[in-house]
Amino acid sequence: MKHSNWLVLGGLALSCGALAAMAAKSGLDPTAFDTHLRPQDDLYQYANGTWLAKTEIPADLASYGSFVMLDDASRNNVHGLLEELLRKPQPPGSEPAKVADFYRSYMDTTRIDAAGLKPLAPELARIDAISSAGDVASYMGYNQGIGVNEPLQWSVQQDARNATAYVVELDQSGLTLPDRDYYLREDARFADYRQKYATYITSLMRLAGDRDAATAAATIQGIEKQIATAHWSRVQNRDPVATYNKMTLADLEAKAPGVDWARFFAATGAPGDVVVVSQPSYLTVLGQLFQTVSVADWKTYFRFKLIDDYAPFLGHEFEDLRFDFHSRTLSGVQQPPPRWKRGVGVLNGNMGEAVGKVYVARYFTAESKRRIGALVQNLLRTYQQAIDQLEWMGPETRQQAQAKLAAIAVKLGYPDKWRDYSTLTIAADDLVGNVTRAQQFEHRRFINKLGKPVDRSEWGLTPQTVNAQYNPVMNDITFPAAILQPPFFDPGADDAVNYGAIGAVIGHEISHGFDDLGSQFDGQGNLRNWWTPDDAAKFKQRTNALVAQFNAYTILDDQHVNGQLTLGENIADLSGLSIAYRAYQLSLRGRPAPVIGGYTGAQRFFLGWATIWRNKNRDDRARQLLTIDPHSPTQFRGDGPPSNIDAFYDAFSVKPGDKMYRAPADRVKIW
Ligand SMILES: [Zn+2]
Repeated sequence: MKHSNWLVLGGLALSCGALAAMAAKSGLDPTAFDTHLRPQDDLYQYANGTWLAKTEIPADLASYGSFVMLDDASRNNVHGLLEELLRKPQPPGSEPAKVADFYRSYMDTTRIDAAGLKPLAPELARIDAISSAGDVASYMGYNQGIGVNEPLQWSVQQDARNATAYVVELDQSGLTLPDRDYYLREDARFADYRQKYATYITSLMRLAGDRDAATAAATIQGIEKQIATAHWSRVQNRDPVATYNKMTLADLEAKAPGVDWARFFAATGAPGDVVVVSQPSYLTVLGQLFQTVSVADWKTYFRFKLIDDYAPFLGHEFEDLRFDFHSRTLSGVQQPPPRWKRGVGVLNGNMGEAVGKVYVARYFTAESKRRIGALVQNLLRTYQQAIDQLEWMGPETRQQAQAKLAAIAVKLGYPDKWRDYSTLTIAADDLVGNVTRAQQFEHRRFINKLGKPVDRSEWGLTPQTVNAQYNPVMNDITFPAAILQPPFFDPGADDAVNYGAIGAVIGHEISHGFDDLGSQFDGQGNLRNWWTPDDAAKFKQRTNALVAQFNAYTILDDQHVNGQLTLGENIADLSGLSIAYRAYQLSLRGRPAPVIGGYTGAQRFFLGWATIWRNKNRDDRARQLLTIDPHSPTQFRGDGPPSNIDAFYDAFSVKPGDKMYRAPADRVKIW
């Protein structure tokens, strides 16, 4: 199932009015403002202009801004904890010992450099042994367990039409570049990426000892281009009805007869008698590829995919080549982050909850949990009122919406039940083995879910992640502990900015239950239409207007935002900000807000919103995000929603002729 992440940003606030009322601190940073501009013309630039002009993106990053600073703080904290674990001897076989040994294995660059490609020898031997199309299918099944990207992605998910059960899901996959567009678009930038990709494959395979690496590059790009052509677009993949296709093994054999499905599923370790296929037409093309691509060419492709995915764990020559292409060429990053920082990423990715357990013990308090909990409840109550007062929705749909809202589960800080890593073996001198075993552990965890009741206590994010999430099949929202870190959590600041920042983040996540995608699921997480046709048409009319608004925005001179791809996030931003504004008004209980630093409460609310979107991207990264990211570029997240909200017009006396002005009839109001 596709989850809706906040992805960029976070910040937490205090809902408790008493403490906030005493504070004269606004929570804003006026030194970041560009006061030569007017907020009526560009709120985002007004709130961030000086910061944007003065700030350089650090050499080891593709982006820099509010979210990245918070993420850096979380990584620093985890780094400190890992170093502490290394200094103290841990009970052998204990979880802290495994975390320490995994980190030790990553930091042991002498051993890693000396070993080079050698640790991958057993996996490479598996590829060498492939001798038929049936073996190819079997290898693709096996490969799911070690986390290597390949043409088919196998996973276990909640069944969207029966949210109380798990089911195997098959998704399109297999590309190395970030999206199908990178293979198919004609313009010069994308052609340049493709040319550099060929050079990268050649260099990597030459380093791995292949004599004819240039031919391998052509073979691999040829296969991937055919895969890309058959891939559904990201917009098509946002359609939960079109991507739900339940099939039996016999259906699969009819749909894609070229693939030996029985051998594929046997090698995954789980039965394939009933599966949900996301993109049926893609499977048909994959079946054809099994007949047209030679076994030798598949082996070349698998060899590259394995080495490319495992390059960060091989000697530095492999790692450097990978960085040069994936980070420098595709995202514009100038130099690799320090090794410890990459190590934190590896640990978070492979033993995330074991790290998270140590993290929350140090950095998350019961008081933090209470504060975020109170604020979430406050936003939920405001949403409940807003639904009741909606003039465009009929009573039947409204009742269903209230039922869905009431059923939203809230996950705060960290999971009640931690993942059990006792069956995972970690060795201080075997980095590749550790990664492989951690991936197999995760694969077995998936398999073990099949046939069991859905575990609604499970978390999709680790506590040390700076993010938040709504999951439509769970109908729950998650706020991990790390979103409570400075510089956003300001218990001493006045409420206005807190509501414009974390209040809107919470409102955003709740809104995902009612965006164009989330609204197709009911309160139990089932894909089921609960809208009357008339209300659905009215909703569609409003969201279409939002698509048109965002389609009109451009970055990098002439590159348009994809209003359809970003629709769910744009609905969530607009709705979240509207609801947070109402919640802020309610929190005042009829009292006037103080003026602080020359700004009224309403002005500070919107400036707080614009501040959280402070961000700079390198051009290559910006282009990549425009192609793959369901969130709009941050400047439009900052300016787009306020331009639709009447309260923004009142707050700054926005008039016709001001650049952010939209006529009342053109303003989109959803919730
Ligand atoms: Zn979102």
